[in-house]
Amino acid sequence: MECNTVKDALLKIHQLKEGDCLILDIDDTIIMPEAMMFHPCSPFSKFIDDLKKKKHEKLPQILSNWRLRRKIKLVEEDWVEIINLLKSRGVKVIALTAMQSGAFGGISSMEEWRVKELREHGIIFSPFAQNSIEKIIDKENAATLHQGVLFTGSHPKDKVLNGFINKYTKPNKIIFFDDRLEQVQLLHDYCAKANIDYRGYHYTAASKRVYDSAKDRGAFQTKELIETNRWFEDEDIEKNLRK
Ligand SMILES: [Mg+2]
Repeated sequence: MECNTVKDALLKIHQLKEGDCLILDIDDTIIMPEAMMFHPCSPFSKFIDDLKKKKHEKLPQILSNWRLRRKIKLVEEDWVEIINLLKSRGVKVIALTAMQSGAFGGISSMEEWRVKELREHGIIFSPFAQNSIEKIIDKENAATLHQGVLFTGSHPKDKVLNGFINKYTKPNKIIFFDDRLEQVQLLHDYCAKANIDYRGYHYTAASKRVYDSAKDRGAFQTKELIETNRWFEDEDIEKNLRK
């Protein structure tokens, strides 16, 4: 089901009971980069995905440096209150993010970096693996769990969720939000097989923000990242232009 604001799903979310589970993707679901070039209307929006696909030789350095420096914002402010309210009612709220685990480029622990970034924006998930980084699937790039966030490593989201459920508990009901339709479908198929009541939202709020091509600094930003491995926010570039 497509959903362009979490407000449209509140009725269903509030029906979740103790032992049920709300599962959230992170990038472009909970948080998104501030820079205009990551808006889906920008010709540069696929820059990071393309780097990953091409397996660019400097990918770990470029990607980790960008992740450490880029500013993010919440896709919708409402998430903080929703997550806290559900946790207080005994609903399990976890994240499921398609991301490398362990060390990557200049980041010594992807798990610790990601959780810290979310905390700084008031996003705190249910305390699974609160003081440790647990392996959920221990092969290739491992799938891991840290402070309620599941990292897929090199594994698909349905397999990672299955590993989590086998290790912890099987919820009666799952509500899942992801900006990628194929992920919503993947968990739909998994839950049908596992006999779990499921509602998946193809969540498009991040793509609904206003795009202004005059404020898109992607040409400069991508060139600098590739050539000098430096990241400049839109506002840094504006300031320099006004000088
Ligand atoms: Mg996403």
